[in-house]
Amino acid sequence: MLLTFAALIVGLFVRPDITLDMLWYVLIPVLPATFLVNTALWRGVCPLATLNMLASRQRDLTLRKGWTTKTAAIGIGLLFVMVPARHLIFNTSGVWLGVTMTAVALLALGLGLVVRAKGGFCNSICPLLPVEKLYGQAPLISAPNPRCSPCTLCTAKGCLDLDPSKSLRAALGNSTTVRDWIRTPFGVFAAAFPGFILGYFHIEEVAIPHWYVAYGIILSFSLASLALTAFLAAALRLSTHRLLPVLGALAVGIYYWYAAPASLAAFGLPGGILLRWVLVAFVAIWLAHALRRTDLPPSRHRPRSARLARNPPY
Ligand code: SF4
Repeated sequence: MLLTFAALIVGLFVRPDITLDMLWYVLIPVLPATFLVNTALWRGVCPLATLNMLASRQRDLTLRKGWTTKTAAIGIGLLFVMVPARHLIFNTSGVWLGVTMTAVALLALGLGLVVRAKGGFCNSICPLLPVEKLYGQAPLISAPNPRCSPCTLCTAKGCLDLDPSKSLRAALGNSTTVRDWIRTPFGVFAAAFPGFILGYFHIEEVAIPHWYVAYGIILSFSLASLALTAFLAAALRLSTHRLLPVLGALAVGIYYWYAAPASLAAFGLPGGILLRWVLVAFVAIWLAHALRRTDLPPSRHRPRSARLARNPPY
């Protein structure tokens, strides 16, 4: 995966058109589906995670309890800034995307030199982490986590690799009333995300001087989604156990509704509508599975951390 990542970056500079198509219409659209199956599938091979963990095992500094909410807010902020920027520059400029990906890779590597294991990037400021938490809350299969064997307790609470269910609850501040969880960074993200995705697909490419159009439209959709979710959750007294799977399914369903036909069309292939419905059916199956779980059991493949957490070596 590191070689693929390096090849992508080189490709963005030397063959930007085909590389941008491969990235935005093949590689990226595969990720949400893998998150529904189990986030370990991606987190186990993600090249940024590899870079983040390359030199980080022996570091003393860990992601402490008081930092998790702050770093989560930074990651969510990065996501909400970077995704609309696709319409401005990243969908069409291989150079800018290549430079940005290189900078993020160096950031992941550098934070690994300071903070233990995934505590500096993957479990803190990675912009993909909130999406992984939302879509990975009810994995369809169990999967091992060989990267963290044994667990070095790099993250004080809510590690997604240890227990997706607990990770989600921790991200919501362990609160169940809408008045409390909607105020957490992850609560805002989860409630706004379906609208965020809908807003993204409602605009075309925008010239950089008109950046406020892209951000304004996507922000409007996000705020509408946030307000509607907060209202329905309060009015219908929806529990987070019911609401979070629905929000996850809505977000990923909206994504594939638009992204599936676009992916095949980008290569001149037919069958986009069929692929759309296949993926929507897959999301529906995942939602039924997630709603059946009133409380998510811990992963059967938790690394040795569960034992270590009870009897930490540090
Ligand atoms: S399993 Fe342990 S070492 Fe791995 S990311 Fe989670 S807390 Fe860190």
